[in-house]
Amino acid sequence: MTRLLPASREEMIESIHEYQLTRRRFLGRAAAGSCGLLAGLAQIDAFAQEAASANASKALVPARSPLKITKLETFIHRSSWVFVKITTDAGIVGWGEMLKDKSKACAVEAQEMSKYLVGQDPRPITHHWQAIYRHGFYRGGPVLTAVLSGIDMALWDIKGKALGLPVHELLGGPTRQKIRVYGSRQDVAEGKCTAMKGALRDDRPAYKYVESVGYVQRAAKSFQQMREQFGPDVDIAFDFHGVVQPQTAMLLIKAIEPYQPFFVEEPIQCQDVEGMAEIASKTHLPIATGERIFTKWGFRDILTKRAATIIQPDICYAGGITELRLIAGMAESYYVPLAPHNPQGPCSLAASCQIAAAIPNFLIQEQGVKTHENLLKNPFKAEKGYLPVTSAPGLGIEIDEDKFMAHVGEPAPYQRTYDRDDGSVVDW
Ligand SMILES: [Mg+2]
Repeated sequence: MTRLLPASREEMIESIHEYQLTRRRFLGRAAAGSCGLLAGLAQIDAFAQEAASANASKALVPARSPLKITKLETFIHRSSWVFVKITTDAGIVGWGEMLKDKSKACAVEAQEMSKYLVGQDPRPITHHWQAIYRHGFYRGGPVLTAVLSGIDMALWDIKGKALGLPVHELLGGPTRQKIRVYGSRQDVAEGKCTAMKGALRDDRPAYKYVESVGYVQRAAKSFQQMREQFGPDVDIAFDFHGVVQPQTAMLLIKAIEPYQPFFVEEPIQCQDVEGMAEIASKTHLPIATGERIFTKWGFRDILTKRAATIIQPDICYAGGITELRLIAGMAESYYVPLAPHNPQGPCSLAASCQIAAAIPNFLIQEQGVKTHENLLKNPFKAEKGYLPVTSAPGLGIEIDEDKFMAHVGEPAPYQRTYDRDDGSVVDW
């Protein structure tokens, strides 16, 4: 059941208050543990029905009514997070996030896209995705796919809000009751998470072409100590950051195999798909990659060459919500789950959670940097390793614009890393 556009600003505000109350009630029950008393499909179904009924009267714009994009703005934070905000003539606003490493380029390119988007209906999202990706003669690359991702995310946010439904509902969800996340050692120590990720290293990253026996032994020893500290039931993943050279990657992997890391991330640079496939074939440990791979075409190579058994697409770079759903479908046919990458802000985590709530082959979500909590009216709160599946419309978050604007500024410079012995450039 839908309802007409609110007749007045007061009616719109009342509608938003209503939805906030419903959301708080749901989160309160989830926090109290009532969701954990039942299991499986029956509860997912009950949750879905409750969410649907909670949102039944929240539609702001009926599906067939006119709706137009009136403005596209971009904002760069001092953290380098870069955001896109799309406004419509119904007052509905959508938010998205893009690639932080190229924040200024993304902001400028997204503004260029406003020439195409302003005046258009935001709801044919797949059509806009195709237009933005294919109208340029040159395809792909992190800036184009990041701009596409941010805009896609904002359009899904608008569409969900217009219909009064969370994005996962529009994608066929929910497929689960809550979303597992991983955090830091501190998160695990404080009981907020049961999984974490670290970097395997000695006193520096393993950037030499061939690391010494001493280096490999010390790096493995550090993992052994961590395993002993947290025990066998905490999942501990390791990110090689693609910094490790192929000549050393297998030495490190062999050395840590007895302690069974959750997964090994980017054991080498992801461009060497054949090299990663060879590594994956030589170890029983799960190999993960994907944070620097873009679109379904990039993940096709990873999957067909069996270069990873876990993929980590980033919703801010890989093509947004639209593309992650398709990548997840491709991966499902290879029995590969998603552990989406996320070092960004609140839109990144919120959009990733919408995907997690809608796909069957979800493993775990990177919770990311917690400073995003300062930008939201209702911050994320992981409990015992899980975030709730929100019933709020769109991405399910509310940006606190006063706090948000206080962070706008010059982005952080690139990290510069050199070999400490000879000063040559190394990866990080
Ligand atoms: Mg990584």
